[in-house]
Amino acid sequence: MIEAGTLYIVATPIGNLGDITQRALDILAGVDVIACEDTRHTQKLLSHFTIKNNTMSLHDHNERQRQDQIASMLTEGKSIALVSDAGTPLISDPGFHIVKHLRQQELNVVPIPGACAAIAALSVSGLPTDRFTFEGFLPSKSGARKTVLSALENETRTMVFYDAPRRALDTVEDIVSVLGGDRHVAIARELTKTFETVHSDSAENLKTWLAQDPNQLKGEMVLMIEGAKKDTESISPEAQATLKLLVAELPPKKACAITAEIYSLKKKALYDLALSLK
Ligand code: SAM
Repeated sequence: MIEAGTLYIVATPIGNLGDITQRALDILAGVDVIACEDTRHTQKLLSHFTIKNNTMSLHDHNERQRQDQIASMLTEGKSIALVSDAGTPLISDPGFHIVKHLRQQELNVVPIPGACAAIAALSVSGLPTDRFTFEGFLPSKSGARKTVLSALENETRTMVFYDAPRRALDTVEDIVSVLGGDRHVAIARELTKTFETVHSDSAENLKTWLAQDPNQLKGEMVLMIEGAKKDTESISPEAQATLKLLVAELPPKKACAITAEIYSLKKKALYDLALSLK
């Protein structure tokens, strides 16, 4: 089942070791070598499953140097597994440069899917999952964090971030100041581990909740922010009814101008709605 000349991108657990797949175990046991973000860390995982295999390091600092070596090994017919310390490699973890390089050379790269903290968190957050954006790690300094949040002010999709729980209170304070206290925020901490906690509330309430319980500032965390309301969602039912009547009699531009005047609304938001009513 192991194909020669293939790099396998193998997801490993994000806490609970029971979350590794049978296919991942077979690949880790059967490849010629396992490229690890941290060989000692992966050795513990391998020992737990009594797998003995060769390892080599592949981390942020040597990834580009390793790419030719890995390409040559694959060309010679070797099979390699790539793992990070936890979860899916390449997702805020090393591996992107290697995969890009191998794809350019039309070498075989195969995913062995499994745990990913962002997806696990989103699946239990209660926030919309039909469209979302993964934003990676939030900056650790408040100024840079606020800049990132400001740039996402009008993002309507659910936003998923990795963040350190020890910064969670500061981050939520920044969310309150940049996006407002009403915005819904969910945190998923220590997923699949003993102290797994998932909590969601308005940013303002979440701030109070975090401030009251220092235990919530430990471990690992995914933070998710509800998307901005679409402009049309802030148009009252009365304004929508008026626009509907006017749009049936007048050109959309005129209908919007009158409705905007009566209800003190922005013409742009009304125009999108008017077109959908036409
Ligand atoms: N590649 C990994 C994945 O697929 O999730 C993510 C690696 S990134 C370096 C590590 C970050 O993922 C942590 O700082 C945290 O934000 C998140 N994370 C990892 N494990 C987690 C867990 N068990 N519970 C909550 N967040 C977790």
